[in-house]
Amino acid sequence: MITSDLQTTVARLRQLIDEATVIVPFTGAGISTECGIPDFRSPGGLWTKNQPIPFEAFMARQDMRDEAWQRRFAMEENFANAKPGRGHRALASLYRSGKVPALITQNIDNLHQVSGVASRDVIELHGNTTYATCLDCAERYELSWVKEKFDSSGRHAPDCACGGYIKTATVSFGQAMPLEAMQRAEELTKTCDLFLAVGSSLVVWPAAGFPLMAKRNGAALVIINREPTEFDDLADLVVRNDIGDALGPFITH
Ligand SMILES: [Zn+2]
Repeated sequence: MITSDLQTTVARLRQLIDEATVIVPFTGAGISTECGIPDFRSPGGLWTKNQPIPFEAFMARQDMRDEAWQRRFAMEENFANAKPGRGHRALASLYRSGKVPALITQNIDNLHQVSGVASRDVIELHGNTTYATCLDCAERYELSWVKEKFDSSGRHAPDCACGGYIKTATVSFGQAMPLEAMQRAEELTKTCDLFLAVGSSLVVWPAAGFPLMAKRNGAALVIINREPTEFDDLADLVVRNDIGDALGPFITH
């Protein structure tokens, strides 16, 4: 069933949520667009203007590391000012209700954590851009520290005391997927009886694998996304409404 009538959407969603025992949300860029975080991959998005810096280039060249940090600081206003949207708040409400044990996200904006989901219960497939780590020793660095070193060195990316390179805690193109997060996401997906894909085009690997995995394990599948996805035919409910409008009624405080 595909709905775009808001009343029908909310009624159908409510029924599926009420019937479910374990709900696993899977979120992508669409949930954060109302928060001022651009969808990097969308037409006109940042990645169509600036080619992403592949991990190999970041590791090989100081000027690429400088450029990566330059770009990240240029985005700081978007990330620093972003507040959770209605979609984040609704999922946080379901989390508090006890039906959502944890959630899986492709987003790097930290907004699920800000909305009240404990960090340990946010499985980040693409990492997190609101802090940095050393690629060798995994020491955590705050962006304010990196910015200060960057500015005081004539705009050069600083290195860790151990000599390793410091990078936002995101997964870059060409960088290995975080194995532990992938395993946890798989295990979680197999435990749910309702899989809620929200704001993801479900194209990029590994995102594409999860709805199928949930469905094969007998879960109901709901896809809330502006654009059609490859999995719409498999879904028990496809919602074409705005994410905030569709999930807003599920915010409980
Ligand atoms: Zn280090």
